Amino acid sequence: MLSIKDLHASVENKSILRGLSLDVKDGEVHAIMGPNGSGKSTLSQVLAGREDYTVEKGTVEYLGQDLLAMSIEDRARSGLFLAFQYPIEIPGVSNAYFLRAAVNAGRRHRGLPELDAMDFLKRVKAEMKAVGMREEFLYRSVNEGFSGGEKKRNEVLQMALLEPKLAILDETDSGLDIDAMKVVADGVNRLRAPDRALIVITHYQRLLDYIVPDFVHVLSHGRIVRSGGRELALELEERGYGWIDELATQQT
Ligand code: ADP
Ligand code: MG
Ligand code: MG
Repeated sequence: MLSIKDLHASVENKSILRGLSLDVKDGEVHAIMGPNGSGKSTLSQVLAGREDYTVEKGTVEYLGQDLLAMSIEDRARSGLFLAFQYPIEIPGVSNAYFLRAAVNAGRRHRGLPELDAMDFLKRVKAEMKAVGMREEFLYRSVNEGFSGGEKKRNEVLQMALLEPKLAILDETDSGLDIDAMKVVADGVNRLRAPDRALIVITHYQRLLDYIVPDFVHVLSHGRIVRSGGRELALELEERGYGWIDELATQQT
């Protein structure tokens, strides 16, 4: 699904990722943890193809293709979905319009017929029920005036409708109360499938009580310094991140 090899990336001439390697296979759920500033969001931005991030070295293969050579649109159309820490607002564009356009772009790419308005509404309403969103959110501008929890629900809704191959959630749990966090976790868990993979980026192990990952990786100073099973997340919760930085220093 995804194979990252020796990735080095910088932003504004500051090197952030320094030799990051990661392999994700179909059906797997990976958690990436790490202290603030370790490069977690930089990794998701680079995978998304944001322009301000410069890749200096390394390769990223996604579904057998060179991801770094793909446009942002092609990445999305090939089933890569990114949920960001701070979802964007799109004033003047209704949530329903936005969602249907995104879903149909994905369907065209996969050679499926577009959903007409009726079929789309049926699907979107069923999914909204599952994430606990009222129908009025369909007719409001994308994320405009949504609370933090509502934005996260909306993001899980987008993700469910788009049926991604690889979904990456960057601190989708930050600032959420326990109910909203469970909605996010339920949404992610419903998406688990043998032909799909998920990368959950989180600072806290709390979310991983609800989304149980197959693998946990710890990022420090731009590279993965430790990988393990879910017990690694519990160890981090107990010991904090201090010893991880020491590990990173030893490995440099
Ligand atoms: P994390 O998500 O793990 O908290 P980030 O990837 O956001 O870490 O940031 C890693 C480092 O890169 C930090 O030192 C941060 O200040 C820096 N950084 C990230 N984005 C930018 C940017 N656009 N301009 C300058 N520095 C940045
Ligand atoms: Mg951060
Ligand atoms: Mg971050």
